[in-house]
Amino acid sequence: MRDAHWGRVVTYSRKVFIPLTTYCRDDCGYCVFVKRPGEPGAKVMTPDEVLAVAEQGRALGCKEALFSLGEKPERRYAEARDALARLGFRSMTDYLAAVCELVLSETGLVPHVNAGTMEAGEIERLKSVSGSMGLMLESVSKRLCEPGGPHHACPDKVPLQRLRTIERAGRAAVPFTTGLLIGIGETWRERLETIEAIGDLHRRFGHIQEVIVQNFRAKPGIAMANHPEPDHDEMRRTLAVARLMLAPEISLQAPPNLSPRYLDYLDCGLNDWGGISPLTADHINPECAWPHLDRLASEMAARGFRLQERLTVYPRYIADPARYLVPVIADRLSGLARDDGLALQQMQ
Ligand code: SF4
Repeated sequence: MRDAHWGRVVTYSRKVFIPLTTYCRDDCGYCVFVKRPGEPGAKVMTPDEVLAVAEQGRALGCKEALFSLGEKPERRYAEARDALARLGFRSMTDYLAAVCELVLSETGLVPHVNAGTMEAGEIERLKSVSGSMGLMLESVSKRLCEPGGPHHACPDKVPLQRLRTIERAGRAAVPFTTGLLIGIGETWRERLETIEAIGDLHRRFGHIQEVIVQNFRAKPGIAMANHPEPDHDEMRRTLAVARLMLAPEISLQAPPNLSPRYLDYLDCGLNDWGGISPLTADHINPECAWPHLDRLASEMAARGFRLQERLTVYPRYIADPARYLVPVIADRLSGLARDDGLALQQMQ
């Protein structure tokens, strides 16, 4: 199915990661990104800091600015409210929209927004300043929200809330990324139900441009530090089943930096490696370096695949700007895209 739809081309997006705030109102058991007030690294980036990262990325050929941030921290922490007030904002979404606009106008990078659960108005607002958005569904298992589960006391991890956000993005015709986090306590049945739920949303709205299958990694300092990690076979089987269950036009992605045997994913239907940054660390998994692009390209060539750069918006959505993109974003993307919709300057 992968070969029939995507051929032997596997893509990646050259991007910088902008962790706009490390505050978050949730407390997921596997998260190393989140910082509580007073902890080292707890902060809201200033516009100057955001622009400095984006500009360095642009100089290194990046075309995407991936904004990742904690969920609605201003509803939980006075420190987050104060930081926003100093910047002249009352909500993280308002601030995010402003810095997306700044990055777009000052650097030309196209924002991709991972802002958590969102209302319809927030999605419309962010669509005007970004090319695409994302929210990992992670799992439809409600059990994981029970006491002792990784999503206990995480209001934004209630599956219904996440499904609603993805549905709202569908109604707003936003090219959307979602996915599964595997190995956090879900059963195989729940994993399959998660894939099925994503497939259903895509059948209704057609907006799911990619699905990520991400493996849980145990790290010191998290609540799940001693939780077993999913093994290599589980990743391979989940990828293969996702490829078979989902519509073939949905890009299937797994991060190459979370397993030393990532090349095996090529045999399981994968056609995309996601974001690879020449500049910024993976803030979600800071201990895991990305493979060097030249090395990745030659490893893939040895298996009969070509590595090509794509933009944050996949070709299918770039080709339908009236439905999926606001004019300023469509113009920007058409300046960055080849005739086939992939990125103009590609890795060779
Ligand atoms: S995984 Fe996301 S929602 Fe959960 S604590 Fe970390 S930043 Fe917040």
